[in-house]
Amino acid sequence: MVQSSALDLLRRQIAAGGPVTVAEFMRIALAGEGAGYYATRDPLGGAGDFITAPEISQMFGELIGLWCVDTWERAGAPDSFLLVEMGPGRGTLMADALRAARVRPRFLSAMRLHLVEISRPLRALQAERLGTFQPQWHDDLTTVPAGPTLLVGNEFLDALPIHQFQMTPQGWRERGVDLVDDALAWTLLPPGPQLALLQAAHKRARPDEIAEVSPAALSVAGTVGARMAEDGIAALFIDYGPVESAIGESLQAVKAHRFCDPLAEVGAADLTGHVDFAAVANAAREAGARSHGAVAQATFLETLGIRTRAALLSAKAGEEDRVAIAQAMTRLIDPRQMGSLFKALAISHPSLQELAGFP
Ligand code: SAH
Repeated sequence: MVQSSALDLLRRQIAAGGPVTVAEFMRIALAGEGAGYYATRDPLGGAGDFITAPEISQMFGELIGLWCVDTWERAGAPDSFLLVEMGPGRGTLMADALRAARVRPRFLSAMRLHLVEISRPLRALQAERLGTFQPQWHDDLTTVPAGPTLLVGNEFLDALPIHQFQMTPQGWRERGVDLVDDALAWTLLPPGPQLALLQAAHKRARPDEIAEVSPAALSVAGTVGARMAEDGIAALFIDYGPVESAIGESLQAVKAHRFCDPLAEVGAADLTGHVDFAAVANAAREAGARSHGAVAQATFLETLGIRTRAALLSAKAGEEDRVAIAQAMTRLIDPRQMGSLFKALAISHPSLQELAGFP
């Protein structure tokens, strides 16, 4: 049987059921039954479509590994816990984190590794990188066993579908995708029930302005928050988006390191939306957890000592590598690059009042 493309799936869905919401469009394009963008390729790195912090420098994963060890110690260093990564990509962050965590052998013997990943090609890369730690893979959090948990997710929440609501003189409408003369086109639909998830800040929108919500991200935040409140320790999410909920459109498509039209490359381009950190933190707190931040990625990495780590690596490196280390650090913390658009948010058991990296 010939495998359908994500575009075929989308066309068939619209032909059968009418226009789809932006969220349904994202779901099919990214994760559609065996054909979506993530299902079919390794999107990361120079030859791929985009590059992420762990692929820029080993320092990123190493500092997160040390953050995990420190957080585990603050939580009383339990003898057994789950280390969970959501959307581990090529496994680079976790490989760097676990190498750095060798400073505490007991951390490594106490942890069981669980990876939440929908992409089969990426699971294969993760198995190569992390096989010695005998990870277990999951499609989502529902099958991850209970117990004290340290969880990390870098550029995971931004991949979850968003609903877009547009203010019109007649009130809110929902943005969707339709087929017009056999071509994909934006359209406006009556708003779906997710409209109820808009934050107070969104309600001031004027005609033509757009507000976004991600029920999928809020659901992950609620599930993780409940887990932290129940079983303890902490979760760390790093992604891009505002600290406070804000009006604005953020759906973007990226292919081969360039922005493109989201409707032109269905299933062949990455699609993301900004993460509403205030809404995510709120959902976790409502589930009984404590939230920390969000703080700028620069604040998080500098507080954890990225400058010291870069100096240490440079001391052992040749001239060419020294330049590369300095450039990578600038890319991660410069406010004009990833330093301020990217944020770190932690969600923990309520008893953990302070966490490293969140001054
Ligand atoms: N954390 C990695 C990869 C980020 S790309 C890094 O920083 O380099 C997003 C990752 O999330 C990919 O591994 C992708 O396959 C995974 N992913 C996207 N949507 C997902 C979903 N709904 N459930 C589980 N994993 C998902």
